[in-house]
Amino acid sequence: MELTILGCSGSYGGPNAGACSGYLVRDGSTTVWIDCGNGTFGHLQQHVAVEDLTALVITHAHPDHCVDLYGLHVMLRYALHRVGFPVYAPAGLEQHLGTLVDGDWGGTFSWHPIDDTQPVTIGSMTLRFARTDHPPPTYAVELTADGSRLVYTSDTGPGWSVAAFPPGADLVLSEATYLHDNKSAPIHLSAKEAGAAARDANARRLMLTHVWPQLDPTLIAAEGSGAFGAPVILAEPGLVTAV
Ligand SMILES: [Zn+2]
Repeated sequence: MELTILGCSGSYGGPNAGACSGYLVRDGSTTVWIDCGNGTFGHLQQHVAVEDLTALVITHAHPDHCVDLYGLHVMLRYALHRVGFPVYAPAGLEQHLGTLVDGDWGGTFSWHPIDDTQPVTIGSMTLRFARTDHPPPTYAVELTADGSRLVYTSDTGPGWSVAAFPPGADLVLSEATYLHDNKSAPIHLSAKEAGAAARDANARRLMLTHVWPQLDPTLIAAEGSGAFGAPVILAEPGLVTAV
């Protein structure tokens, strides 16, 4: 599997191509877009033709993880004339986000609810979900394909950890919104908490994302590396990593 960062700015867009949360995961011809935060649809088109997308997964209803769905809807519906494009999302998101299109998605999407009881197969990938510690129904995602395993925390407070999935993931992509001594909201992790959780789950590698834009990312990386016990990778738009 291969992971491409489309955006990693925490909660709101930052300068210098600072799109919010969005990730592309590929395995052979299976190409899955995970979270379509603001700014990520433009970046996505630098890496893949929209015609070649297999599915979209939305982890929760916060705007920085889902609002580029509207751009995808317009392109699929009016430029590509596609119907039934698969979207995997928490139950109710179709109606919740549908208020901005007066409930008229035009059949563009085929909606599949996700929860932490049912694995999902998308092409060559198996996806499992776990409800995190974050106010709207929010699901972390484990993707398995070709013998490798990626765990993405989505957004979470410290009441949930990547240990909800089996230990030893090849790559954990964890939110790390704050520095530990200046945490302003309990619904997100500090870099220290992200590093410690990934260490406890025996993650082979850790990448930190969803960093608050006003923070110095090198401080986030240093704090995360200290807690993880090995150097972490900092997400940045356009970064491509083998899982
Ligand atoms: Zn959120």
